[in-house]
Amino acid sequence: MDMSVPLKLYEPLTVPQTVRDRLQRPLRELRVSVIDRCNFRCTYCMPADSLQGRGVFLPLQKLLTDHELVTLVRAFAELGVQKLRLTGGEPLVRPGLPALVQQLADIPGLQDIALTTNGVLLPRLAEDLAAAGLRRLTVSLDTLDREVLFRMSGGKARLDDILEGIAAAEAAGFSPLKINTVVQRGVNDHTIMDLLAHFRGTPHRVRLIEYMDVGNTNHWSLDEVVPNAEWVRRIGERWPLRPLRPSSAAETAKRYEYVDGQGEIGFISSITEPFCGGCTRARITADGLLYTCLFSNHGTHLLPLIRHCEDPQALARRITEVWERRGDRYSEQRGTPDGQHEKVEMYRLGG
Ligand code: SAM
Repeated sequence: MDMSVPLKLYEPLTVPQTVRDRLQRPLRELRVSVIDRCNFRCTYCMPADSLQGRGVFLPLQKLLTDHELVTLVRAFAELGVQKLRLTGGEPLVRPGLPALVQQLADIPGLQDIALTTNGVLLPRLAEDLAAAGLRRLTVSLDTLDREVLFRMSGGKARLDDILEGIAAAEAAGFSPLKINTVVQRGVNDHTIMDLLAHFRGTPHRVRLIEYMDVGNTNHWSLDEVVPNAEWVRRIGERWPLRPLRPSSAAETAKRYEYVDGQGEIGFISSITEPFCGGCTRARITADGLLYTCLFSNHGTHLLPLIRHCEDPQALARRITEVWERRGDRYSEQRGTPDGQHEKVEMYRLGG
């Protein structure tokens, strides 16, 4: 199947000055992996059998320190980044996360700080994160079926722990939550309607994510992708849906509302409807490598420009250079000769 699609150019935002890449996409969003370790072993992300041997994870002393992370994010904010998302690995396993969030929340220009988590440590951390200034939370939950969840998480997830995490997030004032659900045909697709039924009538917004070919270890196959168009039809037959207007040009999810007023649902269709043209996102690994695409194989070391650096402008200059050179549009080139290369693992890069 030829999966290439013609280049769609980004429609310029109305924001005045900013650094732009070769396809005129501004730098607006930053995802930071605060740690590459995770307490789950999801088969589509960090399968346990790919983690043999020592040195798979960064030693803790190799992680950027809080101070280094704040310096980095401040430089990105000065270049036009308005939205920050903390991720991993599992971000909640980074020691002292609330104190880091508190410092990040003070950075001028940042309008939004969000975090993606598997939720199990939220009962311990949700209140502190809210008090530190975290604005929004996404909790990943692929199914309500205990067996399927156990299998998909590599034998690590217990449904009750995640539901307790969601309850703790609600109690700390994080509402609405986004609920990220990766769909794999033949694995959890038969459980999706139950999951949707559970969240209908709550403020939370499920986002169905097409299983992606991130990294090299999940043995991705197109056969396991359920095109989101199929879901829109199937869900609409049971609970009629109405499309919602995108809230910004860079929005990754196509949003719909239930016509009966029971809430909202989003579809992230990176495989069947790539959205590279609107991608304004840079990514930083937990040891300070800058990537300009989730499917990249090449990162730029920024740490030397923070540690032992005499020139305060050098960091901003380097980020600008990398962004101005950026021409990534992997999802639109998937399946073409330009789309064939090794990729960095998602848990290193931050999903
Ligand atoms: N550990 C955190 C969590 O579970 O949300 C944050 C990191 S995780 C890499 C971020 C998101 O990426 C999760 O919602 C996860 O489901 C999604 N993800 C990981 N691998 C994926 C894949 N192959 N296709 C689609 N989504 C994926």
